[in-house]
Amino acid sequence: MVKSPAMSAPTRVVQVAIPTPLRCHFDYLVPQNGAVPQPGARVRVAFGRQRQVVGVVLNNASESALAPERLKPIGEILDNEPLLPPRLLQLLTWAADYYHHAVGDVIHTALPALLRQGNAASAPGVTNWVLTQTGGKLNPGELTRAPLQQRLLGALAEAPQGLAPTALGRISPGWSAAMKILQSKGWVGTQQRDCLQQRDVPLLPAPRLTPAQQEAVQAVSAKFDAFAVHLLHGVTGSGKTEVYLQLIERAVQAQRQALVLVPEIALTPQFIQRFEQRFNMPVAVLHSGLSDQERLCAWLSARVGKASIVLGTRSAVFTPLAKLGLIVVDEEHDPSYKQQDGFRYSARDVAVMRARREQVPVILGSATPSLESIYHTQSVNYRILKLPDRTGDARLPQVRVLDMRSQVPVDGLSHPLRVAVAQRLARGEQSLLFLNRRGFAPVLMCHACGWLAPCRRCDARLTLHQHARKLRCHHCGAEAIPPTKCPACSGAELRPVGEGTERIETTLTRLFPEAKIIRIDRDTTRRKGSLEEKLRDIHAGDADILVGTQMLSKGHDFPAVTLVGVVNADQGLYSADFRAAEHLFQRIMQVSGRAGRADKPGEVLIQTYHPEHPIFKALSRHDYNAFAEYTLAERRETNYPPFAYLALLRAEAPQLGAALNFLHMARDLGREIIGNEVEIMEPVPAPMERRAGRYRAQLLVQASKRPPLHNFLSRWIASLSEDKLGRKVRWSLDVDPIDMY
Ligand code: ADP
Ligand code: ZN
Ligand code: ZN
Repeated sequence: MVKSPAMSAPTRVVQVAIPTPLRCHFDYLVPQNGAVPQPGARVRVAFGRQRQVVGVVLNNASESALAPERLKPIGEILDNEPLLPPRLLQLLTWAADYYHHAVGDVIHTALPALLRQGNAASAPGVTNWVLTQTGGKLNPGELTRAPLQQRLLGALAEAPQGLAPTALGRISPGWSAAMKILQSKGWVGTQQRDCLQQRDVPLLPAPRLTPAQQEAVQAVSAKFDAFAVHLLHGVTGSGKTEVYLQLIERAVQAQRQALVLVPEIALTPQFIQRFEQRFNMPVAVLHSGLSDQERLCAWLSARVGKASIVLGTRSAVFTPLAKLGLIVVDEEHDPSYKQQDGFRYSARDVAVMRARREQVPVILGSATPSLESIYHTQSVNYRILKLPDRTGDARLPQVRVLDMRSQVPVDGLSHPLRVAVAQRLARGEQSLLFLNRRGFAPVLMCHACGWLAPCRRCDARLTLHQHARKLRCHHCGAEAIPPTKCPACSGAELRPVGEGTERIETTLTRLFPEAKIIRIDRDTTRRKGSLEEKLRDIHAGDADILVGTQMLSKGHDFPAVTLVGVVNADQGLYSADFRAAEHLFQRIMQVSGRAGRADKPGEVLIQTYHPEHPIFKALSRHDYNAFAEYTLAERRETNYPPFAYLALLRAEAPQLGAALNFLHMARDLGREIIGNEVEIMEPVPAPMERRAGRYRAQLLVQASKRPPLHNFLSRWIASLSEDKLGRKVRWSLDVDPIDMY
C-alpha cells in the first residue's frame, strides 16, 4: 500500500528562499528532534562553499525531490514566529512569479538591511544625539575654529528631543567625526528614542468637504471591509489629499492601519506635515534616506501595528502591517513606481494586488491618471471618483501655447515668456520655469566642422556643465574636461548648443539681475537635505524665479507661483516610445498645476515648435479626458497596452553580436513553445545601442491576454536559464515595461 506523503507526515524539510539570482527555492533538513521554523521566519543556512546566508522559510514539507543525504541541515532559526506574515509572504511569492524574478531576491527587497544581515527583529529605537548639561551651557558661537562642531551644537540646542543620524546627515555628511569629538569633551551624548513621527503641533480642524469630495469619501467608506479599487481623478488642488486624510481617519478609528505610497522621497515631508496638523497619530516613514536603524524601527512598528499610518516610497508596498485597512497610492501615474532594474516591479500594481489579497480598499489618486487605470475604470471594475474643480475660489490657470517658429528666443526664452516673468517680478509674485534637461547645454559643437562631443562609452552626446567645467554623460556618468579646441579640426570655436536648466538660470540672472533665482534639479540637490532647504526658501517667499526639471513638477505646492513657463514642450513629442506622449502630457499638466493654487489666478506659457499637435489643444482646455480618449483609441488600433500585455527581454554584452545571438536563440526557443495566443517579435538593438561600454538589444513579447503570456514566460525563462548562451550575456526580463529603452 502506498501511503500518501501528505498525511500527517512529519516535517522533515523546509523550503528556503535564499538571496541569489537563481529562480528557485532550496531545501534544507530539519534536524531530528529539532524545532521546525515557520513559514515567514528567517533561518541561517549553509549555501555554496562555506558560505552562511540568511534565508526565509517559504514552506514546510515532509520530503524533498532531492535525496535526504544530499540535503544540508538548517543552521540557526532566527525568528520564533513568522517575520513575514502569511499574506505578505504570499504576496511576495506571487510577485516573484508574476515578474519572473528570483524569489530570494524578491523577499530580500522586502526586508530592511539589518534583518537581511540576520539581526534580531527587535528595535530599541533610534539613537538620538542630545546636548549634555555641560553642552547646554556652552555658547556655540565661541567655537569659531571648528565650524562644523559649532553648527552641530547650534542645531542640537534648537532640538530639545535631540537629532537622529539622518537629520544630522542633512547638516553635513561628515557629522559623525565631529560629533565624536564633541562627545569626547562631554558636551553631547546619545539617547534612545522611538522612531515614529509624532510631534505635538496644534491640530487644524478638518474643512467642510465639497460635495465631490464627500461623494468620494462615501463611495470608498461604503465598502471599507472589502477589496475595491478607486481611481480618484482630481485636478491639481482639488482636495485629493483631504479625501485621503478623511479616509485614513476612518480606517484608524476602526483600529486599522493605512499604507500611503508616494512616488518620491521629496514628497514625504509635506505629507508628514499634513498628517501632523490633522491627527495625533504615530506615523512610520519608510524611504531610502533612512539609516538602517531607523528603517528597521519603522518597519517593525508597522509590523506590530504600532504605527497608524505607514508612509513610504516604492518598496514600502512590501511593509508588513498587522491591521492593514486602507492603501493610498498618490500620483499613481508616476513612472517612479516602476523599479527600473533588478526586480522590476510596479509598486502601484503590487498595491492593487495586495489590497485584493487583504480585502481592503485601495485609492489610486492623480490629476493625470495612467491610461491603464483610466481604461480599467471602463473595462474591469475600478471605480472612478472625480474632483473636477479646485477647492474654494481657486481656478485652473489659463494656458497659452506659444508658436516658437515666429519667435527669436534668447537662450531658449521667447519674448512673451520674458515679459511674463518681468511682470511677475514687478508684482512680487513667483515664476516657475520648467525644462526637463539639466546641465548647461546638451551638446558642445565645433562651429568649424560640426564635431559634437561624444561619450566614448555610450551612443550619446556629452552634456556641458559650465559651472563645474565638465562634460558629463547623463547615461553612464562619464566625465571629461571640455576641450579648448576641436579634437577633429583644431578649430577654436566650440559652442554650447541648446539649453539645460543651468543655462536658463544663467540667462535669467543676466536678464533679471535683481531677482532671486532658485534652481532645482539633480545637480543642485545632490547634498542630503538641500532639496528640503530650497523648498523651505521657496515657501518662505525667498525666491522670485524657480527653474527646474520634473523634480519641481511633482506634487509640490507653490502657492505664490502665478506663472509657469514650459521652456521646451517638444521633448518626447515625436518619440518612438508609444508612451512618450502620455508622459509628456502628464508632465506638462502636472507642472501647470503648480500655478495659481491660492486666490491668485495663474498663467501657463508653453513654448513649442509644433503648436498644431492635438496634445496642446487638450492641454489648453485642461481636458485630460479628451487626451486620454484620443490616445486610448490610438493604442487600441496599434494594439499597445492597455489593449495588450508586454514583456521585454533585454540582453547586454561587450559585443552587439553576442547580445543579438542570445536573443535570436531565445526567439527560436520561444517559437517552439509559444502557442497561438502569444506573439514574439524580432530581436533588435536597443534605441541607445551602446551604454556604459556595453551593447544592448531587446526582444518584445506580446499577448492580448495575461494568462497565456505568463504561462509562456515561465516555460521560456526556465529554458533560457539553462542555456549556455545565456551565461555569456547579461539578460533580464521586464514584465509590463514602462520605459521601452
Ligand atoms: P490635491 O491633493 O488635490 O492637490 P489638497 O487636498 O492638497 O489637493 O487641497 C488643496 C488645498 O485646498 C489645500 O490647501 C487644502 O487644505 C484645501 N482644501 C482641501 N479640501 C478643502 C475643502 N473641502 N474646503 C476648503 N479647503 C480645502
Ligand atoms: Zn572641428
Ligand atoms: Zn556615457
